[in-house]
Amino acid sequence: MTNTTNFDIATQCVKGTYQAGNTEPMVAPIIQSTTYRYDSSDSLAAAFNLEQATPIYTRIGNPTLSVLEEKLALLEKGIAAVTTASGQAAVFYSIANIAQAGDHIIALSNLYGGTYTLLSGILKQLGIKVTFVEPSASVAEIVGISQENTKLIFAETIGNPCLDVLDFENVSRAAKQIDIPLIVDNTFATPYLCNPKDFGANIIVHSTTKYLDGHATSLGGVVIDCGNFNWNNGKFPGLSEPNEAYHDLIYTETFGDAAYAVKLRTGLLRDIGATLAPFNAFLTNLGTETLHLRMERHSSNALAVAQFLEKHPKVEWVNYPHLASSPSYDLAKKYLSRGGSGVVSFGIKGGSEAAKKFIDTMQLAMLVTHVGDLRTFAIHPASTTHRQLSDEALEKAGITPNLIRYNVGIEHIDDILRDIEQTLSQI
Ligand SMILES: *Cc1c(COP(=O)(O)O)cnc(C)c1O
Repeated sequence: MTNTTNFDIATQCVKGTYQAGNTEPMVAPIIQSTTYRYDSSDSLAAAFNLEQATPIYTRIGNPTLSVLEEKLALLEKGIAAVTTASGQAAVFYSIANIAQAGDHIIALSNLYGGTYTLLSGILKQLGIKVTFVEPSASVAEIVGISQENTKLIFAETIGNPCLDVLDFENVSRAAKQIDIPLIVDNTFATPYLCNPKDFGANIIVHSTTKYLDGHATSLGGVVIDCGNFNWNNGKFPGLSEPNEAYHDLIYTETFGDAAYAVKLRTGLLRDIGATLAPFNAFLTNLGTETLHLRMERHSSNALAVAQFLEKHPKVEWVNYPHLASSPSYDLAKKYLSRGGSGVVSFGIKGGSEAAKKFIDTMQLAMLVTHVGDLRTFAIHPASTTHRQLSDEALEKAGITPNLIRYNVGIEHIDDILRDIEQTLSQI
C-alpha cells in the first residue's frame, strides 16, 4: 500500500487514498445502496454505538462518499471530511455544528450571496446572531466585537464577486486571540491553489459543485476538519460534554482531534440529512482527478483575460487577484502563489445597461448562474445572483451596477479573447 500523504498534490488529485485490492476495480465503484446487511444484532449495535465505523445507512455514510471524503481531507491536509448534498448545506452545517440559539458569530462581509443571506436570514431566525466585519478589519477590531458567546469566524479565501483575497494572518490571529475556530470557504481557490490550514484555518468548507467537480454535473459540498482546534476550552459543550443521544458519549474524549467531524456526521447529517448522492460523489471524484491541470489553465487563461480587459478602452476597471493593480495583489502572491483561479470581475463603461448588453452579446461565453466550470461564462450579479441584497449591502459588498463576473474556462485563450473583443466592439 502506498502512503499518499507524501505525494505532491497533483499526484494526490489523481490517486486519492483509494487503493484497489487484487482483482478489485481500479476505479472506486458507485455503491448505489441505501443500506448495509449485518450478520448479527451485536455487530449492528456496535456500529450504532459508534464503536465501529462501518456503514449503517447511506444518510450518515456510504463507501463511495468515503472515497471522496478521504481524498478531499488529504488535499486539504485535514484529518476528516463530511460531504453534503450542496455547498449551502456544508456552510450551514459547519456553523450549526458549534453554534446554537443565543450564540454569536463573526463573518466577513464579502461573502458569496447565498452564504450572506443564510447568515443574515436563516441563522438570525434560528437565534444565532451575526456581526459582519469589513475584510480589511484589524485584529483589534475583530477581537473588539467578539463577545462571551462568540463561537466562530467565517471567511472566504477569495471573496465573491470582488475577488479580494483573505488576509489569513490577520483573521486567524483574531480567531486565536478570541480562542474560537476560523472556518474558511475555500471554494474559489480549491486546495490546489491554497491550503487554508497552512494559514491558520481550523475548518474548511467547499461547494464541490464548482471547481472540484469542475464539469457542472453535480451539486455537492464538503466540510473538512483540520483537527487543529482545541474544543475543550469551555466554549463548546456540545463537543466536550456528555451527549445524551449517544449514551453520554463525549466527542472530544472518544474521537480526539476528529470530534468536530464525527459530531457533524452523527448529529446534523443523521438528523437532518442533506447527504450527497453516491453518483454525485463518483462524478465529483472524477472531477478532482484533473483539478491540478484545470486550475493551472483556469489561472493562466484568467490572467490573460484580466490583462486584456485592463487595456481595453471600453472597460472601466478590472479585478483579478494576480493583476498588479489589484488591491489584493500582495495577499494573492502570499496565499495563492500557484495562480489566481478562474474568475475575473470587471466594470464595463456605460453602467448597468452596458453590462447587460455585454452579457446578451457574448457568443462563446454563455450566460449561466455558476462559477468554477471548465466552460467560459459570465453573469451580471447586480440583476441576478445578488439581487436580493439591498443597495446598501450591494455597495458594501462592492457590487457596482456595471460589474460583470466572468468565469474563464479552459478553452483556448485565443478563442476566449476573440469573443470578448467581438462582444465589446458591439457596445
Ligand atoms: C456556490 C457557492 C456556495 C454554495 O454552494 P452550492 O453547491 O451551490 O450550494 C457557497 N460558497 C461559495 C463560495 C460558492 O461559490
